[in-house]
Amino acid sequence: MTGTLTIAGLGPGDQELVTSEVSTALAQATDIFGYAPYVARIPARDGLVLHASDNRQELQRATEALRLAAQGCRVVVVSSGDPGVFAMASAVFEALEAAPQWLDVPIRVLPGVTAMLAAAARAGAPLGHDFCAINLSDNLKPWPVIEARLRLAAEADFAIALYNPRSTSRPEGFERALQILTDAGCGDRIMIFAHAVTTPAERIDALPLRAARADMADMRTLVILCNSATRRIGRWIYAPRRMS
Ligand code: SAH
Repeated sequence: MTGTLTIAGLGPGDQELVTSEVSTALAQATDIFGYAPYVARIPARDGLVLHASDNRQELQRATEALRLAAQGCRVVVVSSGDPGVFAMASAVFEALEAAPQWLDVPIRVLPGVTAMLAAAARAGAPLGHDFCAINLSDNLKPWPVIEARLRLAAEADFAIALYNPRSTSRPEGFERALQILTDAGCGDRIMIFAHAVTTPAERIDALPLRAARADMADMRTLVILCNSATRRIGRWIYAPRRMS
């Protein structure tokens, strides 16, 4: 039996946003690996082993997934949103780099709807012009790198999507990020807080950065700082296609 390793994105929450190629891969899987809340989205069935693990165990999870695939299992590693956006795809390739004996395992990466795109669609079109995405977690990179990127992205007038804005273990980081963006002259720009997008708990708020407070975000929030030209039309927020 030939094993395979599929790295799949489950989308932001709504079952309708799971692509059909991901659904097919899940239906054919013998083993599913992922962070426990994501694995919980996969219905149990005979012949399927669910390997749920803790948030910080990405490399260990990726190595175990590769090992099982090399032994002949049809393994799917799941992430929320897109697996290449601050998620498991990089962890799998990191594990592969450390264990080149598994280079022949057939690997596929199946894209998903990332939180940034689901959030932007709810608000209108805040990413209609140039934009970037920054992960505010400093688990895997030094905080000064985050600060420098925030400043430079603000200076370049990108719309900025902020992933992992705030967690209980890092309550102060997002407050500092808001201060850096304010000091960079972005106070009048619109900030969108998109909480639990496409789930029953969804909530979207938008206000000028200067009125934003750190406690408006948690780990289920995707934050978008709009560019300086972005405006409202009725209930919609959009970035004009032209910039003067
Ligand atoms: N791979 C995922 C991102 C993982 S990082 C993706 O492509 O979406 C986890 C962060 O993603 C969360 O802290 C939050 O900022 C964002 N996120 C994921 N799902 C979300 C949702 N349904 N609504 C709002 N933000 C979400």
